[in-house]
Amino acid sequence: MRNASRAARRAGGRLGFVPTMGALHEGHRSLVRAARAASDVVAASIFVNPTQFGPNEDLGKYPRSFERDCELLEREGVDLLFAPGVEEMYPGLADGLADRSVRPTNVGSAVTWVTVEGLSEKLDGRSRPGHFRGVTTVVSKLFHVVEPDAAFFGQKDAAQVAIIRRMVRDLNLAVEIVVCPIVREADGLAMSSRNAYLDPEQRKRALVLHRSLMRVQQLAGTGERSAARLVAAGREEIARESSVRLDYFEIVDAETLDPVEDVSRGALVAVAAYVGSTRLIDNVVLGASDVPATVTPK
Ligand code: AMP
Repeated sequence: MRNASRAARRAGGRLGFVPTMGALHEGHRSLVRAARAASDVVAASIFVNPTQFGPNEDLGKYPRSFERDCELLEREGVDLLFAPGVEEMYPGLADGLADRSVRPTNVGSAVTWVTVEGLSEKLDGRSRPGHFRGVTTVVSKLFHVVEPDAAFFGQKDAAQVAIIRRMVRDLNLAVEIVVCPIVREADGLAMSSRNAYLDPEQRKRALVLHRSLMRVQQLAGTGERSAARLVAAGREEIARESSVRLDYFEIVDAETLDPVEDVSRGALVAVAAYVGSTRLIDNVVLGASDVPATVTPK
């Protein structure tokens, strides 16, 4: 992979990179298109990264559709695909994965992790301990193998974006991070490979995530600036769907992921909830212009 990407860059090409875990959908496709538009050569990766899954999470059943993914990538003009096996990325890890009830301390025979301290324990990091450490470690490895000029990520995973941006800044990585908007189904559900787990009934219930965000956005649009009141409204909306179990509903600074009290300078509204055993996430960014400067009297 490194030989191929170096050859492409030697030829004067700007290399854009789209890392994925496969089971590709329109969200991934939008990243590829953004990469295509901004690069001479586009590389993608498909790797279901074991180190970002917790002991009791869905690593074993994570959807895989390699042949279809390859066709999609080819159709979209991706030039290079990196699809390593677990052993190639983490020599010796496969044995450590046999017992999924324990969290591996070493990455197979390797002992080096990349951790963005503090940020990695917020939002999804709180309910998925070790998740972001796995993400930043694998993304670092992928960056070192692919050596892209730019890498394309989805706003869908807002905490991941904040953490990767911070890693790139802190480690002086020579890669530009480009963030692309959330792609949704016609009814508002954020596209996700995990939507494949939902049965038709759950698929309907899953819409409550988007609904809760729309309610908060709408309320902010009428002048409500108090994050506490906006969060309460969002949680209330989720609670109406009694079979959906809320993990978190938070309004935070999009860079630090710390809760904000007042949204008038913009904020990230993020939600995670379980629909059945499927954990879904979604978010919306309140821009400063979404919140009127003067509060409308109630
Ligand atoms: P994944 O395969 O789930 O690891 O996702 C690979 C990349 O696609 C990540 O940067 C995600 O944020 C992005 N992505 C996933 N779903 C969407 C979506 N609905 N809209 C935009 N980007 C997405």
